[in-house]
Amino acid sequence: SKPIRIGIVGHGNLGRGVEAAMAHNPDLRVSGIYTRRDPAQVTPLAAGTPVHRMADLAGHAGQLDVLILCGGSKDDLPLQSPELAARFCIVDSFDTHARIPEHFAAVDAAARAGRTTALISAGWDPGLFSINRVYAEALLPDGETYTFWGKGVSQGHSDALRRVPGVAGAVQYTVPVEAAMQQVRSGTRPSLSTRQKHTRECYVVLKDGADPDAVRQAIVSMPHYFDEYDTTVHFVSAELLAREHGRIPHGGFVIRSGNTTPAHKHVIEYRLQLDSNPEFTSSVLVAYARAVHRLHQQGRFGALTVFDVAPGLLSPKSAEELRRGDL
Ligand code: NAP
Repeated sequence: SKPIRIGIVGHGNLGRGVEAAMAHNPDLRVSGIYTRRDPAQVTPLAAGTPVHRMADLAGHAGQLDVLILCGGSKDDLPLQSPELAARFCIVDSFDTHARIPEHFAAVDAAARAGRTTALISAGWDPGLFSINRVYAEALLPDGETYTFWGKGVSQGHSDALRRVPGVAGAVQYTVPVEAAMQQVRSGTRPSLSTRQKHTRECYVVLKDGADPDAVRQAIVSMPHYFDEYDTTVHFVSAELLAREHGRIPHGGFVIRSGNTTPAHKHVIEYRLQLDSNPEFTSSVLVAYARAVHRLHQQGRFGALTVFDVAPGLLSPKSAEELRRGDL
């Protein structure tokens, strides 16, 4: 059968990750990359992949099956997802958890009107972690769920560090507290404060003449970002930051412990350990693009989340092949 034709909208970390994922998904093909920048400024991984202006999308509807939206959750997706879902099947990775209901509503209205299929908030959190929380809570209603993140780079916290006066460059790692995870795994259902679950490690390059004590104080007392955590600040050279902290690893754990009877407790644990957060997230988006294409062919229009997609639809294998070899 013909490959599923993918359009990549936005060529940042995720956009490049979608391109990279194509090597392992021969049933999908990138038809084009769409960018808000001058296409000459965007270099695709595969030299032959055309780069178009966003405005060209309107004329390309007949040559694209699914758009994978790779823009940022803060400013890009709230506009791009509803706008494009009116005419195209889409997948996005919208990760502002508190705003998912309103994002869903906007995309759903557009997708129903346009008879498209639009999956929002795919990725790992939200995404795979959400699925694992739902499974675990449905299977063990009498229990407690814990999510630990890291060790990994938090883009948001790294950005916050770079806005501190006197900081020339910075990377922030979120680190789960091992003792807290052991307590959770023991099935005792501890109540854990924010401070008890994660620590924050900052690698900071100072601007010339900046006062390290003032910078450290500004960081550890920053509301929301750092004040509720035990935060360590390491001052390093720009060379060391570039050499040792240039990658974007992440991951974490979803753990639920619960009881079926008072005498019998159970622990469910799901773990991700990712060298590259964006490359892995893109691989998830690609698998969901396959599912979205199938659901559209079945006439399932409107917005969806990962909760609405059956696992078999993610696989390149048919339902029959899966029953034969994978059950
Ligand atoms: P990013 O690299 O900053 O790219 C975002 C957009 O910025 C791109 O689509 C691109 O759009 C534009 N851009 C990129 N490089 C640029 C440059 N050099 N100059 C000007 N513009 C540039 O962001 P990302 O790392 O791909 O992440 C995108 C979003 O994914 C994040 O906001 C996050 O919310 C989400 N995410 C979700 C999960 C999850 O588990 N659900 C996990 C990771 C990330 P144009 O090509 O149109 O300019």
